[in-house]
Amino acid sequence: MVKRTIIKIDEEKCTGCGKCVAPCAEGAIQIINGKAKVVSEELCDGMGFCIGVCPEGALSIEERHTVEFNREKTEAQPKKKDISIRCFQCGAGEDTHYLLPLRHKMESIWVCTRCLPRLIHG
Ligand code: SF4
Ligand SMILES: [Zn+2]
Repeated sequence: MVKRTIIKIDEEKCTGCGKCVAPCAEGAIQIINGKAKVVSEELCDGMGFCIGVCPEGALSIEERHTVEFNREKTEAQPKKKDISIRCFQCGAGEDTHYLLPLRHKMESIWVCTRCLPRLIHG
């Protein structure tokens, strides 16, 4: 056991929409009985990439004692492709563009790096 950062899921807030599953590159999250669950704490690196994706604010990062992150195990996890992950401006998908999660007016959206400068600079 080590003390490190790891995801915390608030099941009261989680609607089971599944938007956090594919963005987790480690394959650590699955929807089980209608709620997002960490399938194994070894798979969560605690980077928190999923946080911005959740429309309900159900995800957060906390520091606590848990098992060490296991990179080899994450590489063996099946990767989920989610075709709904597209740039909200140009519609580009992750196959061809780099995408980032954004929050705007209580919405979670994706933007590609080509469209991002226009948002920053107006
Ligand atoms: S994105 Fe949020 S509300 Fe949707 S399944 Fe994941 S934790 Fe639950
Ligand atoms: Zn774009």
